Amino acid sequence: MDHKINIKSYSFNELQGALKEMGEPAYRAGQVHRWLFNERAENFDSMTNLGSKLRNMLSDRFFIPSCSIKKVQREPATEDRQKTSKFLVSLHDGEYIESVHIPAPKRDTVCISSQVGCPLRCTFCATGYMGFTRNLNAAEIVEQVFLVNDHLACQSPATHLTNIVFMGMGEPLLNLSNVLEAIETLSQQDYRFSFSQRRITISTVGLIPQIDSLSHSNLKTKLAISLHSAEQEKRSRLIPVAKEHTLTNLQNALERYVAQTNEPVTLVYMLIEGINDSVRDAKNLARFSRSFLCKINLIDYNTIVNMGFKPVKAERLDGFIRVLVDAGLHVTVRKSYGESINAACGQLAIAEKIPGPDRANQ
Ligand code: SF4
Repeated sequence: MDHKINIKSYSFNELQGALKEMGEPAYRAGQVHRWLFNERAENFDSMTNLGSKLRNMLSDRFFIPSCSIKKVQREPATEDRQKTSKFLVSLHDGEYIESVHIPAPKRDTVCISSQVGCPLRCTFCATGYMGFTRNLNAAEIVEQVFLVNDHLACQSPATHLTNIVFMGMGEPLLNLSNVLEAIETLSQQDYRFSFSQRRITISTVGLIPQIDSLSHSNLKTKLAISLHSAEQEKRSRLIPVAKEHTLTNLQNALERYVAQTNEPVTLVYMLIEGINDSVRDAKNLARFSRSFLCKINLIDYNTIVNMGFKPVKAERLDGFIRVLVDAGLHVTVRKSYGESINAACGQLAIAEKIPGPDRANQ
């Protein structure tokens, strides 16, 4: 298999090109893509609407990789909360990623990864501590949805995923072409999921050129920005890449995004005690948010071993919300999910890949 190419690493256009080189008509790419991404064929022999000559040519040149669930951790249910589950998914090259199922009364959301690790090293995030190994290809992104959905359906046949959020491991806008290709596949009309793109959210720390690209794509997905501070210096400490993608430029990019798409942006703000939770921080956030259509989603900081950050106390949260509401902003507070199984925001990481020392002080 060493000399063979992973066929699922090809984009649709690359697949079209390869089949054209083999002398095949243009419609073949659609047939092969459907076998790979909708039927999840495990070998070329099962692609029964292709001639045997083509099947042989494909298997001489390509292999079909597989991903599988290696471990499932389930949070204990409480009276007011259904169980969150975290999935450890193994990739064909021995790497691992994590995906999370977040159930709610009217929706079943899967939080998926876009990279193995992450190069951006945000100081509050366990994934950043892992470092970066590689981007996921579109197939590996799509496969997480299949694997989680099918696992849930085995346990309870009525369950099916309704929403997808790119908030797992990695910065999706650093892997934009594969993320977009995966979204096209997941929302393809006559494929199994046919997800409405409106039920798919891409979350980013705010990479400006990519936000501009996204606003000019034809996708109807939602955009969430992990803001966490509206003060430049403080934000750069939490999110080092914010030094290059400054708040002023980010604000301008979000104004352009909203003008282009006519869609609000969600600003995700993780409250960390003593770091970004003061009245002044709230006023900065209000100032940043008022020039474009947005919703503010406040979330708890989820404890990560050795990081030295803490979640805010209730009174502090109330004061913070009051400033935003008084400024006329739309604010929601998202309850943390999955913390007990390290499945909450910022907690996803393959344990063996995290170095020990406390980076919060670096
Ligand atoms: S918060 Fe997102 S961008 Fe930052 S290190 Fe974690 S995964 Fe990467």
